[in-house]
Amino acid sequence: MDPFAPLGRFINDQAQQCTYSPADTPSADCGAPATWHILWNVDCEVSLACDQHMTVVRSRYVFVDSHRIGPDCAMPGALWDTAAKRCMYPDEPVGSTAAAELHTPT
Ligand SMILES: [Zn+2]
Ligand SMILES: [Zn+2]
Repeated sequence: MDPFAPLGRFINDQAQQCTYSPADTPSADCGAPATWHILWNVDCEVSLACDQHMTVVRSRYVFVDSHRIGPDCAMPGALWDTAAKRCMYPDEPVGSTAAAELHTPT
């Protein structure tokens, strides 16, 4: 059995609905309100799942991380925080601290 989930077509997941789609067609989409966020791989491919389909995912497929859906999940620009087990926005623009340090005279 292939341990890797067939990720299928791109699905706009900002509606936070379960994106489980056995036949990879819109008519096969689950569409239930999602309760879990799944990180499949280090390329940051993610899916949303309802309780029922999270059970299927856990029993069948390998994935890197998962967490309960939060308000920032699947929103543009939000980052997956594996330590905090949630999606969040960075508090400050990435790189601003490093750039400041680079220009500090020595
Ligand atoms: Zn579902
Ligand atoms: Zn998330």
